[in-house]
Amino acid sequence: MKSNVEEIFGSKVFDESVMREKLAKDTFRELEKTIREGKQLNIKIANAVAHAMKEWALEQGATHYTHWFQPMTGVTAEKHDGFINPDKDGKVIMEFSGKELIKGEPDASSFPNGGLRATFEARGYTAWDPTSYAFIKNGVLCIPTAFCSYSGHALDKKTPLLRSMQAINKQALRIVKLFGNDDVQTIKTTVGPEQEYFLVDQKYYEQRKDLIYTGRTLFGAPCPKGQELEDHYFGTIKSRVQEFMSDLNQELWKLGILAKTEHNEVAPAQHELAPIFTTTNIATDHNQLTMELIQRVAKKHGLVALLHEKPFEGINGSGKHNNFSLSTDTGINLLEPGDTPHENAQFLVFLAAIIKAVDEHQDLLRLSVATAGNDHRLGANEAPPAIISIFLGDELTAVLKAIEEEKPYDGKEKELMKIGATVLPKFPKDSTDRNRTSPFAFTGNKFEFRMPGSNASIAGCNIVLNTVIADEIEKFANILEAADNFDTTLHALIKDTIKNHKRIIFNGNGYDDSWVKEAESRGLLNLKTTPDALPYFKTKENIELFERQKVLSKEEVQSRYEILMDEYEKQINIEALTMLDIAKKDILPAASKFSKELTDTITNKKAIGIDLTYELETAKKVSEYLTEAYQALITLEKDVEKLHEIDDFEKSAFYVRDFIIQDMAALRKPCDKLEVVTSNEDWPFPTYGKLLFSI
Ligand code: ADP
Ligand code: MG
Repeated sequence: MKSNVEEIFGSKVFDESVMREKLAKDTFRELEKTIREGKQLNIKIANAVAHAMKEWALEQGATHYTHWFQPMTGVTAEKHDGFINPDKDGKVIMEFSGKELIKGEPDASSFPNGGLRATFEARGYTAWDPTSYAFIKNGVLCIPTAFCSYSGHALDKKTPLLRSMQAINKQALRIVKLFGNDDVQTIKTTVGPEQEYFLVDQKYYEQRKDLIYTGRTLFGAPCPKGQELEDHYFGTIKSRVQEFMSDLNQELWKLGILAKTEHNEVAPAQHELAPIFTTTNIATDHNQLTMELIQRVAKKHGLVALLHEKPFEGINGSGKHNNFSLSTDTGINLLEPGDTPHENAQFLVFLAAIIKAVDEHQDLLRLSVATAGNDHRLGANEAPPAIISIFLGDELTAVLKAIEEEKPYDGKEKELMKIGATVLPKFPKDSTDRNRTSPFAFTGNKFEFRMPGSNASIAGCNIVLNTVIADEIEKFANILEAADNFDTTLHALIKDTIKNHKRIIFNGNGYDDSWVKEAESRGLLNLKTTPDALPYFKTKENIELFERQKVLSKEEVQSRYEILMDEYEKQINIEALTMLDIAKKDILPAASKFSKELTDTITNKKAIGIDLTYELETAKKVSEYLTEAYQALITLEKDVEKLHEIDDFEKSAFYVRDFIIQDMAALRKPCDKLEVVTSNEDWPFPTYGKLLFSI
């Protein structure tokens, strides 16, 4: 008998098995071929597929379809169209054509485009990405699509992601062919994103304007217990959370998402969900859906899921570890060191290319994870610092050192590391003591990029990873293909790469202050904030790189730069306005009321001559913090006004970084002090204690 999981898995996905069942044999074969070769779908096939898709969707109770796409801001977008069409005699028929499957024309004007549509063409269209299956969500048939302008500019995240996968496929194929793997036809990148999030009780959430408007707490004093006992991590999952998780798993499985592990995280109320890895563009679609479902399913359980990178000050933030590798269609993981000298040599080429790519493009990797929210997290002793470095572990580092210095490797047996001739020692694959402070860690057969924030789309960082790695592999392939003596050229290439780029390798504690100094002396970048990082996007070298790899055009880079800078400014502007609102209407009046209660008591008590120490000292403190808070509020208010007068997106972002953020911190401080002295009864919203420990 099939288990419930086997039965429901993929039940809402128009996947290969459904296609095989619903499509005529040759239609299915043609579709398969188009998908494999990444070609355009011809209209005859499209009509047949659309018909089958519609029949299947109707069986599942769907009435509408949508082109589901990922605009340049983090969310996904959909516009629902009915299958319904009028027929003769006032009846209706349900229709869906190949044309409607392949191409849609959403009203593109309301999506941010960073000047692209203004300069070029006003309309945009969506086009089916047949490599990602259609699925049913909320009774709507969703067709994963790319979103472009009529002049061919990508207005979304999927298009450049697919282009970057093509770039890496093309270059990596050249390398594996050099190693005689002629049977390989495609190489795809694979990703398994670990998703962290917080769960809070909906009734408390609804009393926090800061969570409602900004997704994070803008005020809040630490509560008596934090995460110091680490008792939440791998602790038992509370029953309410467990029920939510089972429900969530069911929903994810129906969509064919391989949700695999779930556990508590270090911080109270923090959890993690990890799927089994899959091809990058599908992993990206799935992660967007996962984030949506986490939030939707939580609501059903009276919970609210916070996907913000740093919902609580002083408590760990949430990340999204991007585990990635490269895999051939013959099933070989190219970051698996392998067992033979031959496999080892090929592994070392990819490893060296990645080391070089990460060292040379620290700027791009950093900016691929730059958001206002993630700025709070990176470098806050809970997540990797804003400095990019690679963790390889002691064994692999020692091997590379031996290669570089042409000295025997000092493992169990002393061996001269001759690439292609000696076998590499075994590296521990999943040792639990591995370095969790590194932003970019080799974990035995894959790399884990740990900087992305929890609410980011993984498209951004994977576009960059694929592009920079493809570019280095291309250079390597050029050298190796032209070599007279393959073995000596290969050896020299790897040796030189290690020598020139070893500064990026760091196995020590990334949370340690001494690393910041050390990194500086190694010449590594330390881009602390989003506006520090983003301008690197549009340097001449980086634009040339994206154009060379055919991932983004100059205009597409410029538009993304504008959108990201703008998003940063807008996000913090909303936070500043929310702070002003809460401070003015809730915190200061509450503290003032409390102060009146105290002074009333003082007057009354004085009359009968009893001790007034508590009331007097507290009233004094309240009035001192009130004044401090009020002054900070006025400063923030004035600076926000000034911000609104700036009409240049770059200047606005820098102004936010240099003034608004500081003003916000200055306002938070006295307000949090007020929370500590004010009576619970008078405090206007739930405290950290309630938010973090009530489920
Ligand atoms: P940890 O929490 O110790 O980092 P997990 O096992 O929770 O590790 O997560 C590891 C993630 O890495 C999973 O999503 C897994 O599917 C993914 N992964 C494993 N192998 C690969 C690979 N070859 N390519 C991409 N992702 C991978
Ligand atoms: Mg991890």
